[in-house]
Amino acid sequence: MNPDEERRLTEFRATVRRWVAENRVEGLPKDGDVWTREVGPEMAEWLERLRRRGWLCLHWPVEYGGAGMGPLELAVLDEEFAVAGVPRPMLGFGEALVGPAIIAHGTEEQRRRLLPRIVSREDVYCQGFSEPDAGSDLAGVRTRGVVDGDTLTITGQKTWTSEAHGADMCFVLCRTDPDAPKHKGLSFVLVPMTGNGVEVRPIRQMDGRRDYSEVYFDGSRAQVADVIGGLGNGWKVTMTTLGAERSMGYAFRHFEFLSEFREVLEVVRKDGRDGDPLVRQGMAEAYTLLEAVRFLGRSELDRLTASEPEGPEMIMYKLLWSEAHRRMGEIYMDVVGPRAALRPPGEDYTVDTWHDVLFKGQAETIYAGTSEIQRNIIAERLLGLPRR
Ligand SMILES: Cc1cc2nc3c(=O)[nH]c(=O)nc-3n(C[C@H](O)[C@H](O)[C@H](O)COP(=O)(O)OP(=O)(O)OC[C@H]3O[C@@H](n4cnc5c(N)ncnc54)[C@H](O)[C@@H]3O)c2cc1C
Repeated sequence: MNPDEERRLTEFRATVRRWVAENRVEGLPKDGDVWTREVGPEMAEWLERLRRRGWLCLHWPVEYGGAGMGPLELAVLDEEFAVAGVPRPMLGFGEALVGPAIIAHGTEEQRRRLLPRIVSREDVYCQGFSEPDAGSDLAGVRTRGVVDGDTLTITGQKTWTSEAHGADMCFVLCRTDPDAPKHKGLSFVLVPMTGNGVEVRPIRQMDGRRDYSEVYFDGSRAQVADVIGGLGNGWKVTMTTLGAERSMGYAFRHFEFLSEFREVLEVVRKDGRDGDPLVRQGMAEAYTLLEAVRFLGRSELDRLTASEPEGPEMIMYKLLWSEAHRRMGEIYMDVVGPRAALRPPGEDYTVDTWHDVLFKGQAETIYAGTSEIQRNIIAERLLGLPRR
């Protein structure tokens, strides 16, 4: 890094640190992900302060309501927020997935009309990709989009739609040309969720929560003006969306893991289990994985800073951090010991950090492409191995 750049980042770090000290809100949740419109009063205040400062949707261009930050500034801000113990909000699927897709493939009119509505949280999105028979084989989606003049009529079923119950828009991958080859007849369209023939059926999880749903579109209307990338180009837009999903959190994932590690370590110490050689071995393994995630995230950051486009390396990063986190979940259950198996009575299953990591760790190796699919891509695109 050249000295000017280094000076600029040092100044930026000081600015972030000062701003957080002066503007921090007490009682904020640990997790900054904002999936629904309803948030607690502390988070609402924190979002408002960040919005006034222009620090929402940090990597989006300023002209569309973002902060225009590059990967290094993002990493600095994440680091400062983590050290100060305040969450860095991410405005759900709007900011993370559909926003980057609109920036890359939308028309200028779509960018100016749609992106500021995500920043202001007028539009909260969910992701309508997976179907009962189209998950890993996503191009096999059967949801139909029939074009009639300026409108599309959407009919079909999506599943595992995260946070659908709190969303007012869904970005749907649908088949608009059944006669075209599998990957060619697809379109990526934004569909309103309310008063539009959309039924959301939540799926109850083993911990009592209902974070995912089946979503049924029955003659739901969308505008051709809200097709991103043009009719028949949905696969290209979807690839951008999945790329954005895989690259989420490269600069801060290890902070999240470190705070979980510290919590488990504290419990282990409090319970007097820190002298047990097996517990020590487990915690050492978890810490080693955590450091590996940190170094891999750093090398992704270097690559992005050198303006190298997102390539198969990000796929490797997603595979490694998700598998590492899954292993951490197993280790934490072991080292916490019998306490991990005890739950207070009640209808819902209270989730402690170690359960959360165990459950999340499994899910992380499935969404944004399963580990098997990531390995296939690494084998074919990175190593040049034959498909069969
Ligand atoms: C927490 C979570 C949140 C999610 N949120 C959303 C959401 O908001 N919106 C949405 O659209 N989807 C969502 N999904 C769905 C997710 O995208 C799919 O679960 C994922 O793509 C896998 O598809 P599937 O479940 O149909 O499994 P399948 O594709 O049926 O796979 C079953 C098994 O077979 C393996 N397999 C399949 N094909 C191959 C192959 N070619 N080579 C080797 N192995 C293979 C897979 O790795 C897996 O182990 C979510 C999933 C999870 C876990």
